[in-house]
Amino acid sequence: MKLRSMCGMAMIVMGLSLSAPAQGQIGYEVHDGRRPQPTVITPGTFSTQDQPGKPPSDAIVLFDGKDLSSWESVKGGDAPWKVVDGDIQSVPGSGDIQTRQQFGDMQLHIEWLEPQGTKGRSQERGNSGIFLQGLYEMQVLDNYKNETYADGMAGAIYGQYPPLANPSRPQGEWQTYDIIFHAAKLQDGKVVRPARVTAFFNGVLVQDDTDLIGPTAYQILATYPASLPDQGPLQLQDHTSPIYYRNIWVRGLPAEKPQPPIKPAGQNDYEKMHR
Ligand code: MG
Repeated sequence: MKLRSMCGMAMIVMGLSLSAPAQGQIGYEVHDGRRPQPTVITPGTFSTQDQPGKPPSDAIVLFDGKDLSSWESVKGGDAPWKVVDGDIQSVPGSGDIQTRQQFGDMQLHIEWLEPQGTKGRSQERGNSGIFLQGLYEMQVLDNYKNETYADGMAGAIYGQYPPLANPSRPQGEWQTYDIIFHAAKLQDGKVVRPARVTAFFNGVLVQDDTDLIGPTAYQILATYPASLPDQGPLQLQDHTSPIYYRNIWVRGLPAEKPQPPIKPAGQNDYEKMHR
């Protein structure tokens, strides 16, 4: 009884919060024929160990196996890394590289490989990283039979959240990250919404809508500064370990999500309108 009344309360509260259409959107009915049709795109293909897959047709391709024209050195000037047999190869000691283009909310696909013979233990084996918005590091590390601190593993938000599992592949095999990133929203020096990450590592969920506590920091507790830009570059870390990347693409996310309907099916029913 008590549980039922609590559920009822929750539904009332949810009903209240969901009933108002978002700015610029009308309150739709169920099956409403007035809803805009989603953009038609051609989906991509999955990668194999031998061959990178194709990006979806609306992706911004940041590396297609040919050149580093979308990238630059974080120190300024052209990217000092190399393209070898269709893959990006880091040049240890040359510094991080970043995209020339800036991104905010996005879907990111990126693949990386630890070369065979990579030596060292813990953080010293195959360390690199992908900095979302140039601020938040999704760690890249050879964690196949190589233990390190949990919040510094491959699939971790470095220094903040361990991955939910360790699906690492051995050296010499391509690994994939598929990441959904939402930039932090700050206003008047306050965090309105923290940055959020959902990530799949080799197809396995490792970050589940994770709220980040601030831009990545080393050994200190991360916090948000008073302000942050809405967008930033995608940055690849040179941690002086050789690392390969391939098949890097991004899709921007819509500024506003579709809202749920607020009325049952009625006069604007799709089937009635298109009879
Ligand atoms: Mg790193």
